[in-house]
Amino acid sequence: MLMKLENIKNKELKRFLEHAFYIAITLILIPAFLYFEICIVLPTVVEQWSLAFFCHLGCASFLLLNIMGNMIYGMFTNTTIKGRNLEGFNKDEWTLCSVCECLRPPRAWHCNTCDICILKRDHHCTFFACCVGYFNHRYFMLFTFYIFVAMVYSFYFNVKFVSVFITWNHGLILVKFICPLASIVIDFGDESLYVFLVVINVLVGLFTGFLFIYHFNNILKGRLVPETKNYTKDFIHNKGWKLNMIEVFGSRWYLTWISPFIISKLPGNGIEWPVDDKCKLY
Ligand SMILES: [Zn+2]
Ligand SMILES: [Zn+2]
Repeated sequence: MLMKLENIKNKELKRFLEHAFYIAITLILIPAFLYFEICIVLPTVVEQWSLAFFCHLGCASFLLLNIMGNMIYGMFTNTTIKGRNLEGFNKDEWTLCSVCECLRPPRAWHCNTCDICILKRDHHCTFFACCVGYFNHRYFMLFTFYIFVAMVYSFYFNVKFVSVFITWNHGLILVKFICPLASIVIDFGDESLYVFLVVINVLVGLFTGFLFIYHFNNILKGRLVPETKNYTKDFIHNKGWKLNMIEVFGSRWYLTWISPFIISKLPGNGIEWPVDDKCKLY
């Protein structure tokens, strides 16, 4: 019993430290990136304090608000079975979780990292340090989408900016693009540093772009990551693209891209999954 309590405490501490670590990284890295783009890169491309400069500043603030906001909402929205009243439901299709030692609703899966069952569990997200499930799926999608947009947006300016510093007349520049980290160590200077940033810019853009397209495709088909293996055309939770979107982004799905603060009520409770009468919850 004592061992079990100790284990739970250790896992909770690990999760707390993980959260703190990612929040600290986000609070440092994202503002540092923004500072670099606005104070160093942007003035070399457009005239400082001009109308164009303020337009870009507005766009950057919008992106920052959505990235940070969706991340914080995604991290702290409870999508687990913890604290939910699971009594009074028809439990015919519920399965037993041997770790939580309780019956769990359909589409809920146990996460070994979070150490609890997650409602409509999609996957465990390292950046959120928690699982993506029924109640925070929207925030995860918009978080990855806006990081991707920010990477594409800043790529244009970064390439223009970096081209000023690069001297193309030596083969070393190719090595710098292929091994950016090594070139910082070997030949530290503005050129190596800026090339490194552009490479990171491209890699993060490709990674988040792939993530977003993969998960968005799943949403349109009404399925979760664990359900992709056995997915068939007549999958019971596929209600058509629009209802599938509402299932994740809520009743005001077309507005959620504006801000994480927009309230968009989800149609269900993450527990019941009526399949005979598909429109019952809508
Ligand atoms: Zn469980
Ligand atoms: Zn998890």
